[in-house]
Amino acid sequence: MADATGAGGTPRRRRSARPATPEPAAPTGPVGPSVCSSCASDDLTRLSMVLADGTDVVFLSCRRCESREWVQPEPDGGWSSIPIDSVIARSARRR
Ligand SMILES: [Zn+2]
Repeated sequence: MADATGAGGTPRRRRSARPATPEPAAPTGPVGPSVCSSCASDDLTRLSMVLADGTDVVFLSCRRCESREWVQPEPDGGWSSIPIDSVIARSARRR
Protein backbone atom coordinates (compact mmCIF):
# COMPACT_ATOMS: atom_id res chain seq x y z
CA MET A 1 0.00 0.00 0.00
CA ALA A 2 1.07 3.54 -0.57
CA ASP A 3 2.24 5.69 2.24
CA ALA A 4 -0.68 8.06 2.73
CA THR A 5 -0.04 9.25 6.23
CA GLY A 6 0.64 12.74 7.41
CA ALA A 7 -1.64 14.65 5.08
CA GLY A 8 -4.72 16.38 6.36
CA GLY A 9 -6.64 15.63 9.47
CA THR A 10 -5.95 16.76 12.96
CA PRO A 11 -3.91 14.54 15.20
CA ARG A 12 -5.69 13.68 18.36
CA ARG A 13 -4.02 12.90 21.56
CA ARG A 14 -5.57 11.74 24.68
CA ARG A 15 -3.97 12.39 27.98
CA SER A 16 -5.68 11.10 31.02
CA ALA A 17 -3.34 12.79 33.43
CA ARG A 18 -3.88 16.36 32.47
CA PRO A 19 -4.33 19.42 34.64
CA ALA A 20 -7.74 21.03 34.56
CA THR A 21 -6.41 24.35 33.39
CA PRO A 22 -6.77 25.20 29.72
CA GLU A 23 -3.69 25.56 27.62
CA PRO A 24 -2.18 29.03 27.75
CA ALA A 25 -1.83 29.05 24.02
CA ALA A 26 -1.73 32.10 21.83
CA PRO A 27 -4.73 34.33 22.29
CA THR A 28 -7.05 33.55 19.44
CA GLY A 29 -10.25 34.92 20.87
CA PRO A 30 -12.12 37.84 19.44
CA VAL A 31 -10.82 41.27 20.26
CA GLY A 32 -13.71 43.37 19.02
CA PRO A 33 -13.82 46.50 16.92
CA SER A 34 -10.83 48.78 17.12
CA VAL A 35 -12.79 51.95 17.75
CA CYS A 36 -15.87 53.04 19.64
CA SER A 37 -19.03 52.85 17.58
CA SER A 38 -20.34 56.01 19.18
CA CYS A 39 -17.43 58.45 19.18
CA ALA A 40 -14.80 56.58 17.15
CA SER A 41 -12.32 56.75 19.98
CA ASP A 42 -9.80 53.95 20.21
CA ASP A 43 -9.51 54.25 23.96
CA LEU A 44 -11.54 51.19 24.68
CA THR A 45 -11.54 48.61 27.38
CA ARG A 46 -12.14 45.20 25.88
CA LEU A 47 -13.27 42.10 27.62
CA SER A 48 -13.80 38.99 25.56
CA MET A 49 -15.82 36.17 26.96
CA VAL A 50 -17.90 33.23 25.96
CA LEU A 51 -21.55 32.98 26.77
CA ALA A 52 -23.15 29.88 28.17
CA ASP A 53 -24.34 28.89 24.72
CA GLY A 54 -20.84 29.07 23.32
CA THR A 55 -21.11 32.44 21.63
CA ASP A 56 -17.97 34.54 21.58
CA VAL A 57 -18.74 38.07 22.63
CA VAL A 58 -16.70 41.14 23.44
CA PHE A 59 -17.64 43.76 25.95
CA LEU A 60 -16.51 47.22 24.96
CA SER A 61 -16.31 50.11 27.37
CA CYS A 62 -15.33 53.47 25.95
CA ARG A 63 -13.32 55.65 28.28
CA ARG A 64 -14.08 58.73 26.29
CA CYS A 65 -17.86 58.77 25.93
CA GLU A 66 -18.50 56.02 28.49
CA SER A 67 -20.68 54.08 26.11
CA ARG A 68 -20.82 50.39 26.71
CA GLU A 69 -21.53 47.81 24.12
CA TRP A 70 -21.60 44.08 23.59
CA VAL A 71 -20.61 42.81 20.19
CA GLN A 72 -20.29 39.43 18.57
CA PRO A 73 -18.24 38.45 15.52
CA GLU A 74 -19.92 38.16 12.18
CA PRO A 75 -19.04 35.43 9.64
CA ASP A 76 -17.70 38.09 7.28
CA GLY A 77 -15.26 39.37 9.87
CA GLY A 78 -17.30 42.33 11.03
CA TRP A 79 -18.95 42.93 14.34
CA SER A 80 -22.56 43.30 15.29
CA SER A 81 -23.79 44.78 18.52
CA ILE A 82 -26.06 42.72 20.67
CA PRO A 83 -28.44 44.03 23.32
CA ILE A 84 -27.46 43.56 26.92
CA ASP A 85 -30.66 41.68 27.54
CA SER A 86 -29.58 39.09 25.03
CA VAL A 87 -26.23 38.72 26.75
CA ILE A 88 -27.84 38.26 30.12
CA ALA A 89 -30.33 35.77 28.77
CA ARG A 90 -27.62 33.74 27.10
CA SER A 91 -25.34 33.91 30.10
CA ALA A 92 -27.93 32.33 32.32
CA ARG A 93 -27.64 28.65 32.72
CA ARG A 94 -30.62 26.63 31.82
CA ARG A 95 -31.79 24.00 34.17
ZN1 LIG B 1 -16.93 56.32 22.69
